[in-house]
Amino acid sequence: MERTHYAVEAKNAIGEKVKIAGWIYETRDLGGIGFIIIRDKTGYAQIVVKKRERPDLAELLKLPKESVIAVEGTVQKSDKSKLGFEIVPDNIKVLNKAKAPLPMDVSGKIESEMDTRLDNRFMDLRIDKVRAVFMLRNLFIKGIRKAMYENDFVEVQTPKIAAAGAEGGASLFPVQYFDQWAFLTQSPQLYKQMLMASTLDRVFEIGPAFRAEPSDTSRHLAEFTSFDYEMAYISSYEDVARTLESIVVDTLKFVKSEGKPWLEMLDKEITLPKTPFPRLKFDDVKSMLEDEGRKIGNDLGTEDERVLGKIMAEKGYSAYFIVEYPEEEKPFYIMENENSPGYSFAFDLDYYGEELASGGQREHRYEKVVERMKKKGLNPKNFEFYLKAFKYGMPPHGGIGLGVDRFIAKSLGITNIREVVLFPRDQFRLVP
Ligand code: ATP
Ligand code: MG
Repeated sequence: MERTHYAVEAKNAIGEKVKIAGWIYETRDLGGIGFIIIRDKTGYAQIVVKKRERPDLAELLKLPKESVIAVEGTVQKSDKSKLGFEIVPDNIKVLNKAKAPLPMDVSGKIESEMDTRLDNRFMDLRIDKVRAVFMLRNLFIKGIRKAMYENDFVEVQTPKIAAAGAEGGASLFPVQYFDQWAFLTQSPQLYKQMLMASTLDRVFEIGPAFRAEPSDTSRHLAEFTSFDYEMAYISSYEDVARTLESIVVDTLKFVKSEGKPWLEMLDKEITLPKTPFPRLKFDDVKSMLEDEGRKIGNDLGTEDERVLGKIMAEKGYSAYFIVEYPEEEKPFYIMENENSPGYSFAFDLDYYGEELASGGQREHRYEKVVERMKKKGLNPKNFEFYLKAFKYGMPPHGGIGLGVDRFIAKSLGITNIREVVLFPRDQFRLVP
């Protein structure tokens, strides 16, 4: 390897020989002495070069910014460098020279347009604050997995090419599949439910979900990362909601403690939501919003969610459930509330005034699922592979789907979902 230490590790190796490697961030020429600041994943290191020792100093300092070099040398304490250390090189190797000019500024001093940044994402990630977001994203995913394993869930992978959609027809992407048409899955809904009839008992998946959303918003993408789980033998949707609440809180705690250096780099803090998350009945939400002059039907729109977010924030809550939605706007797989006709056991988890997850108790009785499919205008014939699982021992079950990108963005106070996705896909972007 060209490296024995990352830049920040070199700080703890005063007096030792190290090899570090990275991108030239800056060079400074003070005549008889020159400085090269290099950047790697962890931060920065300063290389101090004396002309006496390197007659080619002038050449070195002229290397274009963002060229890749490897340095072997001794770490010494430095009071003059704000890093607190510098490296006196024995050997400097140029691994690859960068071309000039660069397609965008990476010093973090000049802010580039979002499109320029996304067109050059590999380079955008060299900016500390951008890299920090993705290091934190990594921790969010790790935190969710950890919480799920602790709750005895089994991680699964379900197909992303399928014959039928679960979340309504309008947002399906068709794909040519040999000599027939198939679709990119909008969610793992049908598959995770089939697994409830399998004895795996509790399953989760973190994977891509595809929605042909022509909407141009800061919270929708055509491809997003969905965190889904499904659990068997529940007694009510409350079992599902309680699980979700603990997963969300445990994940945030994990990121808060493991992500300190990156949160500092971003100058952000993670605020744990107040618990227990309130469970607001849809009808109560409706009255609360109508008091604010809003007209509410069977579902909430973006603006309704935002207004509710404000009301709840005033009460100190950033996360809250909206439970027992009217059945009409909810998918076929949701269980109706037979004691309260027109209502269902569906809930949403809203977070800072935006929908973060949808879930609920599912309909597990074969005849009822078929009935609901028909009611929603779906042809049960197209879902035979799924319905079969309901005929031979399907336990009561429920689950959720949560938008991971939204979770990360909202937790970090980032407005545009594209900021937390490496290579976002939307109506206007398919490259890179
Ligand atoms: P919304 O009403 O906000 O568009 P939805 O109700 O259509 O969301 P669900 O089918 O309930 O979405 O999906 C579960 C979760 O997946 C949502 O709560 C959201 O966090 C996330 N999600 C859904 N669609 C998108 C998308 N296009 N881009 C990013 N995240 C999404
Ligand atoms: Mg939803």
